Amino acid sequence: MILDGKALSQKIKDELKFETENLIKQTGKTPKLAVVIVGDNPASQIYVKNKKNACKYIGIESVSVELPATITQEELEAKLTNLNGDETINGILLQLPLPKGFNERSALNCIDPIKDVDGLSSVNLGKLLTKEWCLTACTPTGVMELLKEYNIALEGKHAVIINRSLLVGKPLEQLLLSANATVTVCHSHSGDITPYTKKADVIITAVGKRNFLNSTMIKKGAVVVDVAIVRDEQGLCGDCNFEEMKNKCSYISPVPGGVGPLTIAMLLKNTIKTFKKQNNI
Ligand code: NAP
Repeated sequence: MILDGKALSQKIKDELKFETENLIKQTGKTPKLAVVIVGDNPASQIYVKNKKNACKYIGIESVSVELPATITQEELEAKLTNLNGDETINGILLQLPLPKGFNERSALNCIDPIKDVDGLSSVNLGKLLTKEWCLTACTPTGVMELLKEYNIALEGKHAVIINRSLLVGKPLEQLLLSANATVTVCHSHSGDITPYTKKADVIITAVGKRNFLNSTMIKKGAVVVDVAIVRDEQGLCGDCNFEEMKNKCSYISPVPGGVGPLTIAMLLKNTIKTFKKQNNI
């Protein structure tokens, strides 16, 4: 069965649209997101445009703060600090990757954690560990929503994550642990990962290599979530050989149409979540 992230994303956006209308009526304020983009990376420009369109769809205001790649780290951080102080802005998203030479961690940590809708500041990542209220990273949160939507049991199940980045693997490990799964995290030094993936009830892969995962590496009935986005001369795909794997899996997410649309839906959800927190709702 296909894990349809596109359909789930539409459902979440429609729910958020309804909730946003009510919040605006209740507070007299409109939730507002600032999207900060440095330089003119074409892929980032497309991501920012998609995020702004999604905001418009649900009734969140969005502003783009476009900065040239020639600005200094200090100027970027001063801009982020200004946005922290702007009471009309509820969420701040710093589009990654930053051009070469910038310190991304330092810039992300300049964002006030309450406005950090990407959940990537050290404070929000730390609070995920301690299970305090926080904004959680959008892609791992989207993976969890997808599993929840299809009622995929996690308690006591063996989940294997193939990725250990701060954007995907590490927050996802925490979210899966909180759902009482037993979690194995694989990375580029794990050697042959097949002994792990063969035993997994749930596999979440985010390597970024076409045909990285195939049916010989999984057990029958496994749930596979493909987070990767690979763009090459053959087109767009994930890590999985989808056609060859789909009959062996009980559930598998496609690329495109799987986790990607949910990442944007989770950004909107985080913006509403923090708007409510900021307005004591
Ligand atoms: P990344 O930091 O490069 O992470 C790749 C991970 O794969 C690393 O942990 C790396 O291990 C691991 N890896 C590489 N080769 C491996 C191998 N042979 N065996 C096992 N593990 C291996 O990239 P990222 O930012 O996390 O993104 C990963 C993928 O997800 C990309 O394709 C990206 O486009 C996609 N992505 C999609 C979304 C979405 O919305 N759908 C959002 C974010 C990212 P090391 O840590 O040892 O290097």
